[in-house]
Parts: sequence; structure tokens; C-alpha cells
Amino acid sequence: MTMLLRENCGVIGAFSLDGYNVTPLLIAGLEALQHRGQESWGIAVANHQTFKRPGIVSHSVDAEYNEISKINGSLGVGHVRYSTTAKSTVEYAQPIDIGGIFDSSGFRIAHNGTLDRETLMENLKSIGLHPPQGASDTELLGLNLYALIKRCGSWVEAFEKLNPCLNGSFSLVMVTSNGELIAVRDERGFRPLCLGWHEETSSYIVASESCALEVLGARLIRDIEPGEIVTINRDGLKTEYFAKCERHAHCPFEYTYFAHPSSKIEGIIVYNARKNIGRILAKEYPIEGDVVIPVPDSARPAALGYSEETGIPFEEGLLKDRYRRKGGWRSFIEPEKRETIVSKIIAIREVIEGKKVILIDDSIVRGTSSRIIVGSKLRSAKSVSLLLTFPPILYPCYMGIDFPSQEELLAYRVCGTSCSLEEINRRVAEHIGASFVGYNNIDGLSRGIGLPRDQLCLACTAGDYSCLKFKPKFRTREEMRR
Ligand code: SF4
Repeated sequence: MTMLLRENCGVIGAFSLDGYNVTPLLIAGLEALQHRGQESWGIAVANHQTFKRPGIVSHSVDAEYNEISKINGSLGVGHVRYSTTAKSTVEYAQPIDIGGIFDSSGFRIAHNGTLDRETLMENLKSIGLHPPQGASDTELLGLNLYALIKRCGSWVEAFEKLNPCLNGSFSLVMVTSNGELIAVRDERGFRPLCLGWHEETSSYIVASESCALEVLGARLIRDIEPGEIVTINRDGLKTEYFAKCERHAHCPFEYTYFAHPSSKIEGIIVYNARKNIGRILAKEYPIEGDVVIPVPDSARPAALGYSEETGIPFEEGLLKDRYRRKGGWRSFIEPEKRETIVSKIIAIREVIEGKKVILIDDSIVRGTSSRIIVGSKLRSAKSVSLLLTFPPILYPCYMGIDFPSQEELLAYRVCGTSCSLEEINRRVAEHIGASFVGYNNIDGLSRGIGLPRDQLCLACTAGDYSCLKFKPKFRTREEMRR
């Protein structure tokens, strides 16, 4: 399986039924989704060239305001991207143009998720087409759809036909040359996608997360359902299904780490889910401590929940330095900057010194950040007990989050896949130098989020890849680069 490029990104689409310019909505919406990707961004507005830039949205808007303000249209899509490979330049930014801008079957596509490239390439070859060298999963998806839409003329039919080759995750938006906004979510619903209404401009908005709608002053209508295709044009909105699966596989990592805490996904406010998980951890691990401290920022609600449940005071003992650079500070999604970012966390000595610290974090992936925080930032504490809202990550993710190789996962490295949770807790604590480590378990995660186990993806925690069309062949990073 070839999966060199993997991404978890943010997408947005807007269609104004009254002909208002949607560019400002797309830009402001992408800024609200910036936590989903900070490497490059782009917008494709009907009758304008696709505009793509490296870095974060606000940098380009400040520097190129005049150029961006010339992009004016009532229909468009946008994308923010992060990737973890060397191929992380603006060349791979989205939206991607498929077919020509004046080609009646052409469209621009923006994708959040990861799809198996090999299957998509094989499918193209089987119909006599040769994919360009190094094409991303999104481009291959687009080329397959383009070939199908030219033949059948219907998006539902195109997705139905292509679905057996769509192994992985996709939440996507497209703007077509025919003046339509199309939004599609894979049949398992791995990544979020929601629909809203912006009254002021009579616009339908589709976005990865409802936090974008909130910023725009738009109303959340509902989630786009797994397997659904929403088509918006001058006549309004049409909904169809290319697939229906009982067993959904929403990614719990969105709830514990990736999504914005204000977002509502599958009817659940992410902030509430995080706080609930903190309460569940308090019942599971009633540790003696002086202070509860979150690893900023995603673990803050869980630390509050833990503190409220136990009565142990919540303190901000670790702070991110927000003023040195503009933009988000996501230690996980910027791998090469991870250690630098964590090393810049500032500890408040007076809060920590001599205290029994209960440290709350969302997860341990490779363990690098946890070691720095426990061993360096909290070295003046009397003891550090680390509690994790996400269960041990033992298997790689092939559905859009960047832990593609098993060898790099700390819990797997120190325990393999057959240890009890207690043993994992013990060995990981030893490895990162904490007095105690307590991971959440899958039931605690499911209860905390408020979604049943059988509606969650359990691939990276339980090795259950049954929601993929076929089980991926695990590879090392080195093998993936070849
Ligand atoms: S494997 Fe893990 S990170 Fe990936 S989609 Fe499933 S739950 Fe989310």
C-alpha cells in the first residue's frame, strides 16, 4: 500500500443563493480552521484561478490583501493543510484543479482525510489512464472522479462506482465548472463535515468543523452524514447517498485532540467531551495530588473535569509562549518543530515546586514531548503523575492522522500489542520518567465522548481496521519514503 502523503486538513465551501461574494466567508472560515493545518492554504472561487499559498492564512491576507480582494464570486471552496513528509510545499496545497476551468466536467477539489493511493492508481490504469508521477491521494481521487463524471454525468453514480476503491477517509468539498458546490463524506464518517446557513448573505456553508460557522455568524444545520453527497446550486440544496453503513467510525482523536473545543461534532460539543473524560479519569485514577495541571492547550478541559471531580485545585502551571510567533502552537501536527515547540513551554515555578502534580495530557504518540515536559519543565515538582485522555496508541492510523508507522509509537515500542493496561501504564511511566502514568481505556473514551464504541474508529487503539475496505500493510517510515 502506497501512502506517502498523509494529511489531516480543514475544508470549507460556500454558496450564496443571493449572489454575495463568498471570498470573505472562505477566508474567515479557514482562519477558524487553522488549527487543522498550518502548512499551506488555498481557495478556489468560481471563475477565478485557484489561489494557494504556503503558511497560515492571516500572513498571506496581510501581505496580499489587494490581490485576494480581487477574488470575487458567489461560490467557492477552501482548504488548510498540514502534512508530515518532505512533500510539504505549496505544490501540494489544495484545492486541486481537475480538468480545465472551462471544461464542463472540470472541478476544484479540497480533501480532508487519507486514501490509499495504490488502489486509486490501479483503477486509473485499468481504464487506460496514467496518473502523474507523485500524484497525491486527492489528485488521484479527483482524476478517478473526473473520468467517471464524464461518462455517467452523476456524482452519486460516480461515487458509487468508485467507492470500492476508496480505502481510507475523506470529507471533501468541490466547486464544479457547472456552478455547483458539492460536499461528500466517506461512508464511515471518519473525519467531520458539517452544514450551516449564513443568513446575512443567504449562503450555505460546508465546513470541517462548526467552529468555522460560529466565527462567521452562521447557524449549524447538521452534520453531513457518512455516505452522503450534498449538492448546492441556484435551485437550492439536494441530498443523496452513495453508500449507507450501519457501523460508523468517527475518529475519537478529533474529540480528544484535533478538533476545536467549541466545535459540535455528531451533536457533541468537543469541550464537553474533553471535560467528561477528565471526570472519568478522576474516577479511574483517584490519585493523591496537590495540583491538576494541563498540558496546553487541548488537555485543559479534561484537567478542569478532573479537578472538579476530585476537588484538587486546577492550576495553569505550563503556558505556551503565544507572543513569539503568530499562529497556532500544535506540537503534534508540526513534527519537525515538535520538540522546539514543547521546549518553549514556560513553566510557572511557584505553581509546581515541591508539589505532587497531576498532569493531564490528551495522548502520547511518540513520547518525545512527554519526556521533555516531565523531565525538564516539571523537574522541580515533588512527583508527576501523568493521566492521558486517549488510550494507548498501539497501531498506525491510515485514516488521516499522522502516526502512520507502528515502530514510532511509544506504547507499542515499550509493550508490543499484548500487555495489559496496567503493564503499559507501568512501562510508559518508566520510559518518560513519571511517578505514575494512567491511560484512559476504550470504554472510558467512548463514555466520555458520548458515542457508543461501535460508532468509533478503534484502529489505532484496538487494531480494529474492519472499517477499512482492506487491512493496511504496516510499513516503516523508511519504506513509505521509497
Ligand atoms: S486510527 Fe486512531 S487517529 Fe486514525 S482515524 Fe482511527 S481513531 Fe482516529
